[in-house]
Amino acid sequence: MVPPSARSALLAAALGLGARRPLPRGRPAPLLLAPAARPRSGAAGGGVLRHLLLKLRATGPLTVAEYMREALTNPGQGYYTRRGGVGQDFVTAPEVSQVLGELIGIWYVSEWMAAGRPGAFQLVELGPGTGALTDDVLRVFKQLASLLSKCDVSIHLVEVSPKLSETQAQMLTGGKVQSNSEDEAAYMKGISKTGIPIYWYRGIQDVPQGYSFYLAHEFLDALPIHKFQRTEKGWREVLVDIDPEAPDQLRFVLSPSSTPATENFIQPEETRDHVEVCPEAGVLIQRLACRIEKDGGAALIADYGHDGTKTDTFRGFRNHKLHDVLVAPGTADLTADVDFSYLRKMAQGKIATLGPIKQREFLKNMGVDLRMQVLLQNSPDSATREQLLHSYDMLMNPEKMGDRFNFFALLPHRRLTHPHKEHDLHSKSPLPPVAGFGELLLK
Ligand code: SAH
Repeated sequence: MVPPSARSALLAAALGLGARRPLPRGRPAPLLLAPAARPRSGAAGGGVLRHLLLKLRATGPLTVAEYMREALTNPGQGYYTRRGGVGQDFVTAPEVSQVLGELIGIWYVSEWMAAGRPGAFQLVELGPGTGALTDDVLRVFKQLASLLSKCDVSIHLVEVSPKLSETQAQMLTGGKVQSNSEDEAAYMKGISKTGIPIYWYRGIQDVPQGYSFYLAHEFLDALPIHKFQRTEKGWREVLVDIDPEAPDQLRFVLSPSSTPATENFIQPEETRDHVEVCPEAGVLIQRLACRIEKDGGAALIADYGHDGTKTDTFRGFRNHKLHDVLVAPGTADLTADVDFSYLRKMAQGKIATLGPIKQREFLKNMGVDLRMQVLLQNSPDSATREQLLHSYDMLMNPEKMGDRFNFFALLPHRRLTHPHKEHDLHSKSPLPPVAGFGELLLK
């Protein structure tokens, strides 16, 4: 069990870390820009658009989910598989500040201690981007090495993009990795700069079972969504089709009748007129829930999103500007807000969920102010201090990432409530609050 004082001690122990590589500056998140005007000519989408036009001509309209999957992860031409995008088209919190990953690292160590310090844990990151977040978490694990010395830690990265897995390998191992043969679950492996084994996989199903901490930062918003519109005749699915007025362009249409997805995904009590559903996120949560229920551990999910209230959030980003989702697929990031109420439902009571809470609340509860103070005190020059303040503002300002991003956790029920059978004298002591989601632990 970890009393608040021990958690403060964790933070204090990690505070010795210095500032990491120079932080990117002056790249505001393109959150509030108006959509770019839609070009009326030219099939600028290249490979994905050509492929989609052939498919649409042959088999008719596609669901938005099929369209999004092709645009983002088509093996040869998809946005993530070919372009990578992080930093180039959109900026994420781990790229803005090292503090995010450090505090997340402390969160995992705190949960590991609360679980009675098991002899081994896996850290599983879904969609690691450039690898910056895991790099910052690993720096904390190194700083807390005396605490973790008897624990067998390994890193497991789920990444579909060969291009980004190379970037991650460079960031985390200095490029010292080896490819595995096709029959192995992991397609690549290496050793981190801090001496921890790292494995890469194409899907969560390939990651070995065992006590694990999961991390999904801006991952679920990249998974394909279905879109539905309420009409006088009932719910219809939004589909993507060729624009009859411009045969090299795409447009949205409505399915003429209900589709299997409208039957399955719209709840009878739904009050909105437009709904987005991400079944892949639902399946992922079910998988995580089964694993955490069986093996223990925890998942931390951070993303922009809502609690079942928003309607049309599907959008594209290219070069830090909003981009029409139907133009030049494969060249822009496509994303939709995460529906946390759907994730909670898909956990099916197997595990407990906490949140979503705003990023700025989570980070405040985790001690971000103290961490920043120490970094500022230890920064020799005013340029570094200015960068640190800028990154703090990006993370915490409600108008920037502070209110837009949410933290959501999955935990075994036993982490929050004593099971009756084991409710003996010893277990009557209160369970420690989960860091970040509870009261301010560091005053
Ligand atoms: N977590 C990082 C990157 C977010 S971008 C950050 O916050 O900075 C989304 C990441 O998910 C990229 O690494 C992308 O290649 C990966 N990704 C997208 N769809 C995926 C899928 N279906 N399976 C595995 N990885 C995927």
